[in-house]
Amino acid sequence: DPSATWAEVDDYFAAALAGEDDALVHAAESAAATTMPEAAVTANQGAFLALLARVAGARRVLEFGTLAGYSTIWLARAVGEQGHVVTLELEERNAAVARQNLVRAGVAERVEVRVGPAADSGRALVEAGVEPFDLVFIDADKPSNPLYLAAALELTRPGAVIVVDNVVRGGAVLDADSDDPRVQGVRAVVDAIAANDGLEATTLQTVGGKGWDGMIVARRR
Ligand code: SAM
Repeated sequence: DPSATWAEVDDYFAAALAGEDDALVHAAESAAATTMPEAAVTANQGAFLALLARVAGARRVLEFGTLAGYSTIWLARAVGEQGHVVTLELEERNAAVARQNLVRAGVAERVEVRVGPAADSGRALVEAGVEPFDLVFIDADKPSNPLYLAAALELTRPGAVIVVDNVVRGGAVLDADSDDPRVQGVRAVVDAIAANDGLEATTLQTVGGKGWDGMIVARRR
């Protein structure tokens, strides 16, 4: 069974390189108390996001989809003490779990959790004219991916990094006629990125503890 090997390899590299501490382990486990217990990124993926943020020199990060704050902690640590993360979450129940995890991880002061539909929160950020973000991580409801990309483009400048999670979906992305709105949300955001000359992008397929999936990594030219 190759998927068992993927998971073991994932564990091997996570243990060797990712540097997941107790606060992160607890945050991952606490997702059991949220509306989507299995939906956080893996340790290696979290470490990848943090590395991207550091390579980009990101000081301001925007996240769509907080859940228990697992990916948020990775990103918040990457932006450093002077950095700022805004994370958008629909469910107050999840936001409450996340806030506790952010405190435990020592990053609560640099993170703002905004509760409500992310499309509304995103619009409010645009209307408030907030300082642009350096990295945007899109990981909320997948049918809204194109909307979130549009918001990300309004809230960033050239050089910014935009990451979209869960774009492979066990290969389901290939089905143009899929009646799964999440697959259609992925395909629509792929089309939007492909059609946008202001973006350069690629997709990293991932296997591991969460099966077969992947992330789009894009950069504003
Ligand atoms: N980024 C998190 C991590 O890796 O630790 C996982 C996020 S989980 C995949 C998706 C989250 O998006 C859930 O917490 C869900 O409640 C939230 N969500 C779903 N629809 C939303 C919406 N319309 N606006 C904001 N958040 C939404």
